[in-house]
Amino acid sequence: MIERRRTRPVSVGGGATPDKNCVQIGGDAPVSIQSMTKTHTEDIEDTSAQIKELEEMGCEIIRVAVPTPKAARCLGEIKRRTRIPVVADIHFSPQLALEAIAQGVDKIRINPGNMKDKAKVEEVVRAAKNKGIPIRIGVNSGSVKSPGQEEEPLAKLMVETILRYCEHFESLGFRDIVLSLKASDVPTTMAAYREVARQCDYPLHLGVTAAGPASSSIIKSAIGIGGLLSEGIGDTLRVSITGRPHEEIKAGLDILQALGLREHEGWELISCPTCGRCEIDLVKIVEEVKAKLPPEKKALQIAIMGCAVNGPGEAQECDIGIAGGHGFGLLFKKGERVKKIPESEMVSQLLHEIESMS
Ligand code: SF4
Repeated sequence: MIERRRTRPVSVGGGATPDKNCVQIGGDAPVSIQSMTKTHTEDIEDTSAQIKELEEMGCEIIRVAVPTPKAARCLGEIKRRTRIPVVADIHFSPQLALEAIAQGVDKIRINPGNMKDKAKVEEVVRAAKNKGIPIRIGVNSGSVKSPGQEEEPLAKLMVETILRYCEHFESLGFRDIVLSLKASDVPTTMAAYREVARQCDYPLHLGVTAAGPASSSIIKSAIGIGGLLSEGIGDTLRVSITGRPHEEIKAGLDILQALGLREHEGWELISCPTCGRCEIDLVKIVEEVKAKLPPEKKALQIAIMGCAVNGPGEAQECDIGIAGGHGFGLLFKKGERVKKIPESEMVSQLLHEIESMS
Protein backbone atom coordinates (compact mmCIF):
# COMPACT_ATOMS: atom_id res chain seq x y z
CA MET A 1 0.00 0.00 0.00
CA ILE A 2 1.50 3.33 -1.06
CA GLU A 3 1.30 6.12 1.48
CA ARG A 4 0.70 9.25 -0.56
CA ARG A 5 2.12 12.65 0.27
CA ARG A 6 -0.61 14.93 1.57
CA THR A 7 -0.97 18.01 -0.63
CA ARG A 8 -3.18 21.09 -0.82
CA PRO A 9 -6.34 20.21 -2.72
CA VAL A 10 -7.05 22.18 -5.89
CA SER A 11 -10.38 22.00 -7.75
CA VAL A 12 -10.41 21.95 -11.53
CA GLY A 13 -13.84 22.60 -13.04
CA GLY A 14 -16.62 25.00 -12.26
CA GLY A 15 -14.39 27.86 -11.08
CA ALA A 16 -15.26 29.29 -7.68
CA THR A 17 -18.28 26.97 -7.41
CA PRO A 18 -16.95 23.52 -8.40
CA ASP A 19 -19.47 21.65 -10.58
CA LYS A 20 -20.29 17.95 -10.74
CA ASN A 21 -17.60 17.39 -13.33
CA CYS A 22 -14.96 19.05 -11.21
CA VAL A 23 -11.79 17.03 -10.66
CA GLN A 24 -9.83 17.55 -7.48
CA ILE A 25 -6.06 17.43 -7.73
CA GLY A 26 -4.26 16.78 -4.47
CA GLY A 27 -5.66 16.32 -1.00
CA ASP A 28 -7.10 12.84 -0.74
CA ALA A 29 -8.20 12.70 -4.40
CA PRO A 30 -7.10 9.75 -6.51
CA VAL A 31 -4.29 10.41 -9.00
CA SER A 32 -5.99 11.72 -12.14
CA ILE A 33 -5.04 11.06 -15.74
CA GLN A 34 -4.52 13.89 -18.19
CA SER A 35 -3.69 14.18 -21.84
CA MET A 36 -3.31 16.90 -24.42
CA THR A 37 -5.09 17.19 -27.75
CA LYS A 38 -2.98 16.99 -30.88
CA THR A 39 -5.41 18.81 -33.13
CA HIS A 40 -5.29 22.47 -34.08
CA THR A 41 -7.36 24.09 -31.36
CA GLU A 42 -8.74 26.49 -33.97
CA ASP A 43 -10.55 23.47 -35.43
CA ILE A 44 -13.36 23.16 -32.90
CA GLU A 45 -14.91 20.07 -34.53
CA ASP A 46 -11.67 18.08 -34.61
CA THR A 47 -10.59 19.15 -31.15
CA SER A 48 -13.95 18.42 -29.52
CA ALA A 49 -14.14 15.02 -31.24
CA GLN A 50 -10.67 14.08 -30.02
CA ILE A 51 -11.49 15.18 -26.48
CA LYS A 52 -14.61 13.01 -26.53
CA GLU A 53 -12.60 9.96 -27.65
CA LEU A 54 -10.00 10.55 -24.94
CA GLU A 55 -12.66 11.04 -22.31
CA GLU A 56 -14.26 7.73 -23.28
CA MET A 57 -10.88 6.05 -22.79
CA GLY A 58 -10.51 7.47 -19.28
CA CYS A 59 -8.96 10.92 -19.69
CA GLU A 60 -10.07 13.00 -16.71
CA ILE A 61 -8.57 16.42 -17.51
CA ILE A 62 -7.75 17.60 -21.02
CA ARG A 63 -5.26 20.26 -22.05
CA VAL A 64 -5.33 22.12 -25.33
CA ALA A 65 -2.60 24.24 -26.90
CA VAL A 66 -3.43 27.91 -27.28
CA PRO A 67 -0.88 29.33 -29.69
CA THR A 68 -3.02 32.01 -31.38
CA PRO A 69 -5.77 34.52 -30.51
CA LYS A 70 -8.14 32.50 -32.70
CA ALA A 71 -7.39 29.34 -30.69
CA ALA A 72 -8.08 31.27 -27.49
CA ARG A 73 -11.42 32.50 -28.88
CA CYS A 74 -12.42 28.89 -29.71
CA LEU A 75 -12.03 27.75 -26.11
CA GLY A 76 -15.51 28.82 -24.99
CA GLU A 77 -17.18 26.64 -27.62
CA ILE A 78 -14.79 23.72 -26.98
CA LYS A 79 -15.59 24.02 -23.30
CA ARG A 80 -19.34 23.97 -23.98
CA ARG A 81 -18.94 20.73 -25.94
CA THR A 82 -16.74 19.05 -23.31
CA ARG A 83 -17.69 17.36 -20.06
CA ILE A 84 -14.25 17.00 -18.45
CA PRO A 85 -12.25 20.04 -17.28
CA VAL A 86 -10.39 21.91 -20.03
CA VAL A 87 -6.93 23.35 -19.42
CA ALA A 88 -5.44 26.05 -21.66
CA ASP A 89 -1.74 25.61 -22.36
CA ILE A 90 -0.21 29.05 -22.84
CA HIS A 91 3.31 30.14 -23.64
CA PHE A 92 4.82 33.60 -24.03
CA SER A 93 1.58 35.62 -24.20
CA PRO A 94 -0.27 36.80 -21.09
CA GLN A 95 -2.90 38.18 -23.46
CA LEU A 96 -3.76 34.63 -24.61
CA ALA A 97 -4.00 33.54 -20.98
CA LEU A 98 -6.40 36.39 -20.23
CA GLU A 99 -8.55 35.49 -23.23
CA ALA A 100 -8.55 31.79 -22.23
CA ILE A 101 -9.70 32.70 -18.72
CA ALA A 102 -12.40 34.97 -20.14
CA GLN A 103 -13.56 32.08 -22.36
CA GLY A 104 -14.21 29.98 -19.25
CA VAL A 105 -11.43 27.38 -19.20
CA ASP A 106 -11.09 25.42 -15.97
CA LYS A 107 -7.35 25.90 -15.47
CA ILE A 108 -4.41 27.42 -17.27
CA ARG A 109 -0.89 26.15 -17.59
CA ILE A 110 1.84 28.77 -17.90
CA ASN A 111 5.58 29.12 -17.42
CA PRO A 112 5.95 32.62 -15.97
CA GLY A 113 9.59 32.54 -17.04
CA ASN A 114 8.71 32.82 -20.70
CA MET A 115 6.39 35.79 -20.22
CA LYS A 116 8.49 38.94 -20.24
CA ASP A 117 5.93 41.44 -18.95
CA LYS A 118 5.72 40.77 -15.19
CA ALA A 119 2.86 43.23 -14.70
CA LYS A 120 0.87 41.23 -17.25
CA VAL A 121 1.67 37.96 -15.44
CA GLU A 122 0.20 39.53 -12.32
CA GLU A 123 -2.87 40.47 -14.34
CA VAL A 124 -3.24 36.81 -15.35
CA VAL A 125 -2.93 35.64 -11.74
CA ARG A 126 -5.58 38.16 -10.62
CA ALA A 127 -7.91 37.11 -13.45
CA ALA A 128 -7.54 33.43 -12.44
CA LYS A 129 -8.20 34.37 -8.84
CA ASN A 130 -11.34 36.31 -9.76
CA LYS A 131 -12.66 33.33 -11.71
CA GLY A 132 -11.61 30.83 -9.03
CA ILE A 133 -9.54 28.74 -11.42
CA PRO A 134 -6.15 27.19 -10.66
CA ILE A 135 -2.89 27.73 -12.48
CA ARG A 136 -0.35 25.04 -13.22
CA ILE A 137 3.12 26.48 -13.15
CA GLY A 138 5.09 24.29 -15.51
CA VAL A 139 8.85 24.57 -15.57
CA ASN A 140 10.63 22.32 -18.03
CA SER A 141 14.37 21.63 -17.85
CA GLY A 142 14.86 23.33 -21.22
CA SER A 143 13.52 26.61 -19.90
CA VAL A 144 16.04 26.91 -17.07
CA LYS A 145 18.99 25.07 -18.56
CA SER A 146 22.33 26.72 -19.16
CA PRO A 147 24.92 25.07 -21.41
CA GLY A 148 27.01 22.50 -19.56
CA GLN A 149 24.66 22.21 -16.60
CA GLU A 150 25.05 18.91 -14.72
CA GLU A 151 22.18 16.64 -13.66
CA GLU A 152 21.84 17.51 -9.98
CA PRO A 153 22.23 21.31 -10.27
CA LEU A 154 19.66 21.34 -13.09
CA ALA A 155 16.99 19.71 -10.91
CA LYS A 156 17.92 22.13 -8.12
CA LEU A 157 17.68 25.09 -10.46
CA MET A 158 14.24 23.95 -11.64
CA VAL A 159 13.05 23.75 -8.03
CA GLU A 160 14.50 27.14 -7.09
CA THR A 161 12.91 28.70 -10.15
CA ILE A 162 9.46 27.23 -9.58
CA LEU A 163 9.44 28.10 -5.88
CA ARG A 164 10.30 31.69 -6.79
CA TYR A 165 7.23 31.78 -9.06
CA CYS A 166 5.14 30.29 -6.24
CA GLU A 167 6.30 33.02 -3.87
CA HIS A 168 5.37 35.65 -6.42
CA PHE A 169 1.88 34.17 -6.87
CA GLU A 170 1.46 33.84 -3.09
CA SER A 171 2.38 37.52 -2.67
CA LEU A 172 -0.70 38.21 -4.81
CA GLY A 173 -2.84 36.08 -2.51
CA PHE A 174 -3.01 33.17 -4.98
CA ARG A 175 -2.47 29.58 -3.85
CA ASP A 176 -4.55 27.49 -6.25
CA ILE A 177 -1.36 26.20 -7.76
CA VAL A 178 -0.32 22.90 -9.30
CA LEU A 179 3.35 22.38 -10.13
CA SER A 180 5.19 20.44 -12.79
CA LEU A 181 8.95 20.12 -13.24
CA LYS A 182 9.53 17.98 -16.27
CA ALA A 183 12.79 17.02 -17.91
CA SER A 184 13.32 14.65 -20.81
CA ASP A 185 15.66 12.48 -18.77
CA VAL A 186 14.30 10.42 -15.94
CA PRO A 187 16.87 11.04 -13.16
CA THR A 188 16.56 14.84 -13.47
CA THR A 189 12.77 14.64 -13.51
CA MET A 190 12.72 12.44 -10.42
CA ALA A 191 15.26 14.56 -8.55
CA ALA A 192 13.32 17.76 -9.27
CA TYR A 193 9.96 16.33 -8.14
CA ARG A 194 11.46 14.77 -5.01
CA GLU A 195 13.06 18.05 -4.01
CA VAL A 196 9.99 20.20 -4.64
CA ALA A 197 7.84 17.68 -2.74
CA ARG A 198 10.19 18.15 0.20
CA GLN A 199 9.91 21.92 0.11
CA CYS A 200 6.21 22.66 -0.42
CA ASP A 201 2.75 21.11 -0.25
CA TYR A 202 1.41 22.11 -3.67
CA PRO A 203 -0.05 19.23 -5.67
CA LEU A 204 2.21 17.87 -8.40
CA HIS A 205 1.45 17.11 -12.03
CA LEU A 206 3.89 14.34 -13.02
CA GLY A 207 5.40 13.79 -16.42
CA VAL A 208 8.60 13.14 -18.32
CA THR A 209 8.67 15.64 -21.15
CA ALA A 210 9.54 14.92 -24.77
CA ALA A 211 9.79 11.25 -23.84
CA GLY A 212 9.66 10.09 -27.47
CA PRO A 213 7.50 7.51 -29.22
CA ALA A 214 5.46 4.96 -27.26
CA SER A 215 8.28 2.39 -27.07
CA SER A 216 10.62 4.72 -25.16
CA SER A 217 8.06 6.99 -23.50
CA ILE A 218 6.23 4.17 -21.80
CA ILE A 219 9.46 2.90 -20.27
CA LYS A 220 10.65 6.37 -19.22
CA SER A 221 7.23 7.23 -17.82
CA ALA A 222 6.80 3.92 -16.03
CA ILE A 223 10.14 4.49 -14.30
CA GLY A 224 9.85 8.26 -13.77
CA ILE A 225 6.17 8.74 -13.06
CA GLY A 226 5.73 5.26 -11.61
CA GLY A 227 8.84 5.60 -9.44
CA LEU A 228 7.66 8.90 -7.97
CA LEU A 229 4.15 7.58 -7.40
CA SER A 230 5.58 4.54 -5.64
CA GLU A 231 7.25 7.00 -3.21
CA GLY A 232 3.90 8.69 -2.62
CA ILE A 233 4.76 11.72 -4.78
CA GLY A 234 2.33 12.96 -7.44
CA ASP A 235 -1.33 13.93 -7.72
CA THR A 236 -2.04 13.89 -11.44
CA LEU A 237 -0.10 12.66 -14.46
CA ARG A 238 0.37 12.86 -18.16
CA VAL A 239 2.36 10.33 -20.14
CA SER A 240 3.66 12.26 -23.14
CA ILE A 241 3.99 10.17 -26.27
CA THR A 242 4.93 11.09 -29.83
CA GLY A 243 1.90 9.41 -31.31
CA ARG A 244 -1.83 9.22 -30.80
CA PRO A 245 -2.95 10.75 -27.49
CA HIS A 246 -5.10 7.68 -26.89
CA GLU A 247 -1.92 5.74 -26.08
CA GLU A 248 -1.16 8.28 -23.35
CA ILE A 249 -4.38 7.44 -21.51
CA LYS A 250 -3.79 3.71 -21.75
CA ALA A 251 -0.21 4.07 -20.48
CA GLY A 252 -1.31 6.33 -17.60
CA LEU A 253 -3.97 3.86 -16.58
CA ASP A 254 -1.51 0.96 -16.80
CA ILE A 255 0.95 2.78 -14.51
CA LEU A 256 -1.73 3.49 -11.91
CA GLN A 257 -3.09 -0.05 -12.06
CA ALA A 258 0.38 -1.60 -11.80
CA LEU A 259 0.93 0.38 -8.58
CA GLY A 260 -2.47 -0.51 -7.17
CA LEU A 261 -3.51 3.17 -7.32
CA ARG A 262 -6.41 2.35 -9.64
CA GLU A 263 -8.70 -0.67 -9.74
CA HIS A 264 -8.63 -2.82 -12.85
CA GLU A 265 -11.98 -2.12 -14.45
CA GLY A 266 -12.00 -4.95 -16.92
CA TRP A 267 -9.99 -8.09 -17.42
CA GLU A 268 -6.33 -8.33 -16.61
CA LEU A 269 -4.30 -10.86 -18.52
CA ILE A 270 -1.43 -12.48 -16.64
CA SER A 271 0.82 -14.63 -18.78
CA CYS A 272 4.36 -15.90 -18.42
CA PRO A 273 7.16 -15.01 -20.83
CA THR A 274 7.59 -18.73 -21.73
CA CYS A 275 10.90 -20.58 -21.68
CA GLY A 276 12.37 -23.96 -22.55
CA ARG A 277 9.93 -25.70 -20.21
CA CYS A 278 6.88 -24.61 -22.17
CA GLU A 279 5.24 -27.39 -24.20
CA ILE A 280 2.24 -25.56 -25.60
CA ASP A 281 2.17 -22.68 -28.12
CA LEU A 282 1.56 -20.16 -25.37
CA VAL A 283 2.28 -17.02 -27.39
CA LYS A 284 -0.33 -17.97 -29.99
CA ILE A 285 -2.86 -18.91 -27.30
CA VAL A 286 -2.40 -15.60 -25.44
CA GLU A 287 -2.71 -13.58 -28.68
CA GLU A 288 -5.89 -15.44 -29.68
CA VAL A 289 -7.50 -15.11 -26.28
CA LYS A 290 -6.59 -11.42 -26.10
CA ALA A 291 -8.06 -10.76 -29.53
CA LYS A 292 -11.29 -12.63 -28.79
CA LEU A 293 -11.99 -11.58 -25.22
CA PRO A 294 -15.54 -10.34 -24.82
CA PRO A 295 -16.16 -6.66 -24.04
CA GLU A 296 -15.12 -5.99 -20.46
CA LYS A 297 -18.07 -6.33 -18.13
CA LYS A 298 -16.47 -6.87 -14.76
CA ALA A 299 -12.97 -7.05 -13.36
CA LEU A 300 -11.50 -10.47 -14.04
CA GLN A 301 -7.97 -11.75 -13.64
CA ILE A 302 -7.06 -14.34 -16.26
CA ALA A 303 -3.83 -16.33 -16.08
CA ILE A 304 -2.32 -18.21 -19.01
CA MET A 305 0.86 -19.91 -17.88
CA GLY A 306 3.29 -22.19 -19.68
CA CYS A 307 4.11 -25.01 -17.29
CA ALA A 308 3.88 -26.54 -13.86
CA VAL A 309 6.65 -24.38 -12.35
CA ASN A 310 4.61 -21.23 -11.72
CA GLY A 311 1.48 -22.11 -13.68
CA PRO A 312 -0.80 -23.73 -11.08
CA GLY A 313 0.10 -21.11 -8.46
CA GLU A 314 -0.72 -18.14 -10.70
CA ALA A 315 -3.78 -19.84 -12.21
CA GLN A 316 -5.13 -20.61 -8.76
CA GLU A 317 -4.66 -17.02 -7.56
CA CYS A 318 -6.59 -15.57 -10.50
CA ASP A 319 -10.32 -15.74 -11.19
CA ILE A 320 -9.63 -18.15 -14.00
CA GLY A 321 -6.45 -19.61 -15.38
CA ILE A 322 -4.71 -22.27 -17.37
CA ALA A 323 -1.45 -23.97 -16.48
CA GLY A 324 0.12 -25.64 -19.49
CA GLY A 325 1.46 -29.18 -19.63
CA HIS A 326 2.66 -31.42 -22.48
CA GLY A 327 0.03 -30.61 -25.14
CA PHE A 328 -2.68 -29.89 -22.60
CA GLY A 329 -3.61 -27.38 -19.92
CA LEU A 330 -5.17 -27.55 -16.48
CA LEU A 331 -8.09 -25.18 -16.05
CA PHE A 332 -8.53 -23.46 -12.69
CA LYS A 333 -11.54 -21.40 -11.62
CA LYS A 334 -11.60 -19.38 -8.39
CA GLY A 335 -8.65 -21.34 -7.04
CA GLU A 336 -10.08 -24.80 -7.83
CA ARG A 337 -8.75 -27.19 -10.46
CA VAL A 338 -11.69 -27.84 -12.80
CA LYS A 339 -10.49 -29.98 -15.69
CA LYS A 340 -7.77 -30.94 -18.16
CA ILE A 341 -8.12 -29.44 -21.66
CA PRO A 342 -6.28 -30.47 -24.85
CA GLU A 343 -4.18 -27.66 -26.35
CA SER A 344 -6.40 -27.48 -29.44
CA GLU A 345 -9.43 -26.56 -27.28
CA MET A 346 -7.73 -24.24 -24.82
CA VAL A 347 -8.74 -20.96 -26.46
CA SER A 348 -12.37 -21.87 -27.10
CA GLN A 349 -12.92 -23.42 -23.65
CA LEU A 350 -11.20 -20.60 -21.83
CA LEU A 351 -13.28 -17.99 -23.72
CA HIS A 352 -16.45 -19.96 -23.01
CA GLU A 353 -15.68 -20.00 -19.28
CA ILE A 354 -14.76 -16.28 -19.28
CA GLU A 355 -18.04 -15.43 -21.02
CA SER A 356 -19.97 -17.35 -18.38
CA MET A 357 -18.17 -15.46 -15.61
CA SER A 358 -18.53 -11.95 -17.12
S1 SF4 B 1 5.62 -20.67 -16.15
FE1 SF4 B 1 6.89 -22.32 -16.90
S2 SF4 B 1 7.01 -21.95 -19.12
FE2 SF4 B 1 6.31 -20.05 -18.20
S3 SF4 B 1 8.20 -18.92 -17.92
FE3 SF4 B 1 7.72 -19.94 -15.98
S4 SF4 B 1 8.92 -21.82 -16.07
FE4 SF4 B 1 8.82 -21.03 -18.18
